[in-house]
Amino acid sequence: QSTLVLEMRVAPLDEEYILILADDRTDATRTEAMRHDFVVNVSHELKTPVGAISLLAEAIDDAADDEVAVRRFATRLGIESTRLTALVQDIIEFSRVQAKDVVREGGPVDLNRVVAEAVDRLRLTAEARDIRLKAGGRVDAVVHGDADQLMTAVRNLVDNAVRYSPDGTTVGIGLSSRDGLAQITVTDQGVGISPEEQGRVFERFYRVDGARSRQTGGTGLGLSIVKHVVINHGGEVTLWSQPGRGSTFTIRLPEWEEPAVRGAAPVEPP
Ligand code: ADP
Repeated sequence: QSTLVLEMRVAPLDEEYILILADDRTDATRTEAMRHDFVVNVSHELKTPVGAISLLAEAIDDAADDEVAVRRFATRLGIESTRLTALVQDIIEFSRVQAKDVVREGGPVDLNRVVAEAVDRLRLTAEARDIRLKAGGRVDAVVHGDADQLMTAVRNLVDNAVRYSPDGTTVGIGLSSRDGLAQITVTDQGVGISPEEQGRVFERFYRVDGARSRQTGGTGLGLSIVKHVVINHGGEVTLWSQPGRGSTFTIRLPEWEEPAVRGAAPVEPP
């Protein structure tokens, strides 16, 4: 369903004619509505950890003589503030990846480095859960854009793969290139996502299982950040998954062509 929003101004020109000015405000109104929704969502998401933190601070105050209770509340206070920090970081990241012309403003990005760095950053987290991160071989894959954004996207996928997998499993990260498209795949042997949920997981703040997501440190923004980064680079992200068996997320990005090659005039033989 689409609604056309027109802003009309009417002014009498003389006794016979009036002037009507119509301004198409459809896009502006939609952007405004989306911004409003986002602010409502964010406020709602912030309420939970902020509320918990102030309750716990009160509880610590009340339990001043009971050392065991104080320690227990303090631990939970730490967990809640870590959660709040993660949420704030993701909100900042989310607004950073909004509608940025990264292809025009960016530069060539070697996807081997992007994948290697994303994997490196999660190695300790994975090791702690005895999860093996298995990265595939090197290929030539260069895209045009923003290396930090692309790193964030790949890191989010690997982070999810680790968080939604049982201990002792393997997460595979692959990079390939074909017909001018670079492809990054992240495969896990985790809990999987049901067909009904698969279309919704890229929505911001959408979680299949709120309790589990919160427990594993999720903010509900990870996949929507991935989606925005990929769209910014003119690509697409798809998902294959089977509940109980695992998931594969695939990012496809148009590869960068050497400008000199693309625009060069044929060389005439002397
Ligand atoms: P969260 O911070 O909750 O992980 P995301 O936007 O990253 O938020 O993911 C949205 C939801 O999609 C998650 O709550 C989770 O239920 C599901 N999900 C994402 N990645 C995976 C995965 N690799 N395996 C199973 N479920 C996943």
